[in-house]
Amino acid sequence: MLIRNATLLDGRTGIDLLVERGRFVAIGHNLQAAVGTPVVDASGHLLSPPFVDAHFHLDATLSYGLPRVNESGTLLEGIALWGELKPLLTQEALVERALQYCDWAVAKGLLAMRSHVDVCDDRLLAVQALLHVKQKVKPYLDLQLVAFPQDGLLRSPSALANLKRALDLGVDVVGGIPHFERTMADWVESVRILCELAAERGLMVDMHCDESDDPLSRHVETLAFQAHRLGLHGRVTGSHLTSMHSMDNYYVSKLIPLMSEAGLNAVANPLINITLQGRHDSYPKRRGMTRVPELMAAGMNVGFGHDCVMDPWYSLGCGDMLEVAHMGLHVAQMTSQAQMRACFDAVTVNNAAILGLQDYGIEVGHPADFVLLQARSAIEAIRLRAVRLLVVRRGEVVARTPACAAMLALPGRPPGVDWIFNR
Ligand SMILES: [Zn+2]
Repeated sequence: MLIRNATLLDGRTGIDLLVERGRFVAIGHNLQAAVGTPVVDASGHLLSPPFVDAHFHLDATLSYGLPRVNESGTLLEGIALWGELKPLLTQEALVERALQYCDWAVAKGLLAMRSHVDVCDDRLLAVQALLHVKQKVKPYLDLQLVAFPQDGLLRSPSALANLKRALDLGVDVVGGIPHFERTMADWVESVRILCELAAERGLMVDMHCDESDDPLSRHVETLAFQAHRLGLHGRVTGSHLTSMHSMDNYYVSKLIPLMSEAGLNAVANPLINITLQGRHDSYPKRRGMTRVPELMAAGMNVGFGHDCVMDPWYSLGCGDMLEVAHMGLHVAQMTSQAQMRACFDAVTVNNAAILGLQDYGIEVGHPADFVLLQARSAIEAIRLRAVRLLVVRRGEVVARTPACAAMLALPGRPPGVDWIFNR
């Protein structure tokens, strides 16, 4: 395949990309290809590495309304609701919904995903289902699974044993949820047990951490301490970290350097954090997202996750990481040019680093995985939640969406609209 006239994220325009045997073999101007090579005219549109989601729940997705809707809109009612749904789950329904979501995701240019999977079910039904899904989607989507003790590692009697069984079966990453344990001692203990388990097995860690508005929540401090103690630098991720929003500024001024020294990754989930947090507040209501620009300024790798789509915690969503970046930009007030650009990185390259993806990015020798966006820059892509004109995996087109009459910042009226009035 030869792609002609693409714009790249670094601003280069008029770029051709030659793909052979699923990899980029040349990137430059006026490339030539053998006779018969299929040619794609990118027409100056933005060719980006695929979107990556660093935080999702594929076992709960598309279950909205089963068996009922979350009335309070809180995290805790969502967890209770998931507990009601769990006994009703079947392997077939889990697989079907997960595959359905993966189809949506791929259509939106999302080709790698880290999904948590609940291990607090002695049957490990969801684990079996998602391990099956992982194999099924492998040709077109990299799925990484996190063993997630949703009901609390120490609070739920069989959680630790089940978590180890899930890892034995092939789940990739050690998860946790310290804020759902019952006492401060158990918060700390659960983080220690899980980090030691990961160190023993040579695995990454990704914990739901400080997902509350409690200004005194201190789990990420413990997570950073254990990551540093066990030499897990770069392999540990703190997800959500919403309580950091409410913490005392002096404490945070000590916390962020600790997190940074421990090489922690952070994942904010803007759509979900802005929806679930601040529910105990009257006015003013807290925003409930972690301190993204401050973490980035400290040199930490920060990603944005989608977290939920149509499940007990969130009733909307469609697998669009540009929608995630759009919300993250607004909630964090990241409105400078550099910050808006950083929001695009938060759903692409930063998340790729969190997942530890090899050979990610538009470079000679890398797999030809990319999305062609109907936009001319990363910022325009976020502004328009741009159409994914073409999604390509290993040099093969896996999804295609027709261009729309987008509101590109060009003079005149956008093409593709039947105007029925004169101005
Ligand atoms: Zn989550």
